[in-house]
Amino acid sequence: MSTIDDLIAPPGPGLAPAGSGRDPAGTPPEDEALIWCDRLVRIFSVGGVEIQALQGLDLQVAPGELTALVGASGSGKSTLVNILAALDSPTGGQARVAGHDLLAMRERDRLEYRRRTVGFLWQQTSRNLLSHLTAGENIGLPMRLAGVRRGASRSRVGELLGLFAIGHCRDQLIPHLSGGEQQRVAIAVALANRPRLLLADEPTGELDTDTAEAVYGALRTANAELGVTVLVVTHDEMVSGQVRRTIAIRDGRISTEVLRRTETDELGRRAEVSEEYSVLDRAGRLQIPGEFVRALGLRDRVRLALEPDHVTVRPAHGRRPERDPRPDGDGTSDRGDGAPPGGKG
Ligand code: ADP
Ligand code: MG
Repeated sequence: MSTIDDLIAPPGPGLAPAGSGRDPAGTPPEDEALIWCDRLVRIFSVGGVEIQALQGLDLQVAPGELTALVGASGSGKSTLVNILAALDSPTGGQARVAGHDLLAMRERDRLEYRRRTVGFLWQQTSRNLLSHLTAGENIGLPMRLAGVRRGASRSRVGELLGLFAIGHCRDQLIPHLSGGEQQRVAIAVALANRPRLLLADEPTGELDTDTAEAVYGALRTANAELGVTVLVVTHDEMVSGQVRRTIAIRDGRISTEVLRRTETDELGRRAEVSEEYSVLDRAGRLQIPGEFVRALGLRDRVRLALEPDHVTVRPAHGRRPERDPRPDGDGTSDRGDGAPPGGKG
C-alpha cells in the first residue's frame, strides 16, 4: 500500500512554477498560461434540440500543473478535453493551448497540434494502442509519423519504458499485457513526441483500485520528471484528493476549485492543507456552496455589502437559519478571506 506521502507529487512543478512568485490561488495571465479558456461555449444540435455542453467556461492552467477535473456525468468534461485536444471545435468564446488559438486553427494545423503539442489518454485501452504491435512499436509509432530519426526514436522509447517501469513489456504484444501495463504504455505513447500537455479522460474507468493507483502514479511521474502539464478527468475521489489542484465543473462551467499544499508548523510537523475556493467568473458571477445556501435559507435574492476587505452576503427576506452554524453567529459569511471553509486533510 502506498502512503499518502508517496502519492502526493513532490514539490516542484506541481503548482506555480518556481520563482513565479504567484499566489497559489492566483491564475496566470493569458500569455503565461498553458491552457487559457475564456467564456468557452459548445452547443450541440441534435434533431433540432440545442444542448449547451459548455456555457461560458473560463479556465487557466499554468505550465507544469497537475490538475484533476471532476464533475457529474454530462457536466461537460469530455466536451472540454476534446476541444483542448483539437478533436472538436467550440461554438464560441476563446481557447488557447501553448500559444495555439484553437478556434483559428486550420485542419492541417490541428493534425500537427495533435501530433506534437498534446498527448491524449482515453479510458478504453483499445483506443490508445494498436493490438497487433508490441509495446515498443506502439511507443515508436508517433515518432515515425512525425519523421523522427530511428536512433533518436529508439532512445526515447527506452527512456519512456524505464520511466514508467514497463521495460519488460517492450517486445510483448498489447493483448498480453495487464490493464495497468497497457495504460502505462499508452501514457508513454502519448508522451513520445514530447507534448506540452497531456490530457486524460477517465483513464482508469475500467481498472481496479490498485491498478488505477499505478496509472495515477505514472501521470504524476510524467508531470514531475518530464515537466508535462497534466489535466486528468476523474470520478475517483481518491485521486482528486492527491493532486494539488482539483477543478469542479457543473453545467458546463467551472464551479469550485480545491487547492492543496503541504504546510510545516513550528514543530516541524507536516500536514496537508486543502482549501476550497468558489470561482468568480469574468462577469463577477459567483456560486455560493449549497451548504451555505441551506444553512441561511438563502433564496431568490440576497443582500451584498462591501466591507474594507470582504463582502457579506445576507438573506434578503430576514429568515434565520434553522440552526446557526457559528457560535457568535450573526448570519453573515464574513470570514475575511472570502473563501468557503477548507479543512485539514
Ligand atoms: P461528461 O464527460 O462530463 O460526462 P460530456 O462532455 O460528454 O459530459 O457531455 C456534456 C453534455 O453534452 C451532455 O448533455 C451530453 O449529452 C452532450 N453531448 C456531448 N457530446 C455530444 C454530441 N456529440 N452530440 C450531442 N450531444 C453531446
Ligand atoms: Mg466524459
